[in-house]
Amino acid sequence: MGLEEYKGVYVFAQQVDNELSGIAFELLGKAKELAKDLNTDVTAMLLGSDVKGLVDQLAEYGADKVIVVDDPELKNYRTEPYAHAVASIINEYKPEIVLVGATAIGRDLGPRVSARVATGLTADCTVLEIGDFPINPIPGKEQKHNQLLMTRPAFGGNTIATIACPDNRPQMATVRPGVMQKIDPIAGAKAEVIEYNPGFTPNNKYVEILDIVKEVSDTVDIMEAKILVSGGRGVGSAENFKMLQDLADVIGGTVSCSRAVVDNGWMPKELQVGQTGKTVRPNVYFAIGISGAIQHTAGMEESDIIIAINKDETAPIFDVADYGIVGDLNKIVPKLTEALKAVVK
Ligand code: FAD
Repeated sequence: MGLEEYKGVYVFAQQVDNELSGIAFELLGKAKELAKDLNTDVTAMLLGSDVKGLVDQLAEYGADKVIVVDDPELKNYRTEPYAHAVASIINEYKPEIVLVGATAIGRDLGPRVSARVATGLTADCTVLEIGDFPINPIPGKEQKHNQLLMTRPAFGGNTIATIACPDNRPQMATVRPGVMQKIDPIAGAKAEVIEYNPGFTPNNKYVEILDIVKEVSDTVDIMEAKILVSGGRGVGSAENFKMLQDLADVIGGTVSCSRAVVDNGWMPKELQVGQTGKTVRPNVYFAIGISGAIQHTAGMEESDIIIAINKDETAPIFDVADYGIVGDLNKIVPKLTEALKAVVK
């Protein structure tokens, strides 16, 4: 089958406990942009048990079509029936592009599906666009058809690689939560619904789930915060983070941190910003005692306003900061908190 026969941008619409995950909407936002460039439409793949009620939400966030696979075998995520269902959809409908969230579920599902449909997958993409590949073609190696360029950090974040899948379809990518932007919902939008059942024949790869233990976390989701007060190794100790919490309390912010802080055991991993932490995009991001390593800035540089406090004026964090204060954070942060207390009622 020729590459040009594959059509449409497909998104795996992850749901857990019959609630759509934020990544589903983010992927739809990106898919809409790509579909516009390719003059095609966006299809969400919705898998689960009793999930038809979620279709309208997907339409409001940009899905033109929703393929629903509704089956009791899909109640909780399990690798085998989910991989079987998504691979069957791809074989049946032949999409040109398939996007999956780089969540725990998507990281398990994406590569397995790509292997089953014999195509490539680029993991953890941060930029997706339609473009030319190869950029400088050599005779015999010209671009065959529309090309998705998939960009991701490589070699521990020290370089950025743009990857293409020129010879196989679909072109598959996983995308980290928080990187792509969802569209403003279009109230009342409707999608064409296609009910599809690939047939499930349980085999010895259908694991039996005996119990689901949910992690109880008392930390807030830093990806949702509008103001983040983020601390690095320069804060000095877990106790000293109280100073950052005081600042956050005054301005309605949330405390987050760099990886060095997590590695030191001062803060939990859920609060880590960066390449191996979370990607955040708050209105205001305070970087306090953070040097600004590329693996950290990769997760926060899209923040609207970045305010850095660091005693080293050559620290790379100042390259991405909108405002910089050079000095000892132990002196500056309490003063800033007091000053803000006076103006924030
Ligand atoms: P440091 O680099 O030690 O910086 C501390 C800063 O505090 C310095 O700039 C110093 O000048 C300043 N300072 C010290 N005392 C004071 C004071 N009294 N007042 C003011 N300033 C002071 N890092 C992440 O953050 N997130 C990630 O997701 C992540 N993923 C990674 C993935 C890989 C594969 C690798 C290899 C690394 C990753 N890292 C990540 C680690 C990253 O490379 C840096 O090591 C880390 O970000 C450094 O954290 P930091 O800025 O808190 O500490």
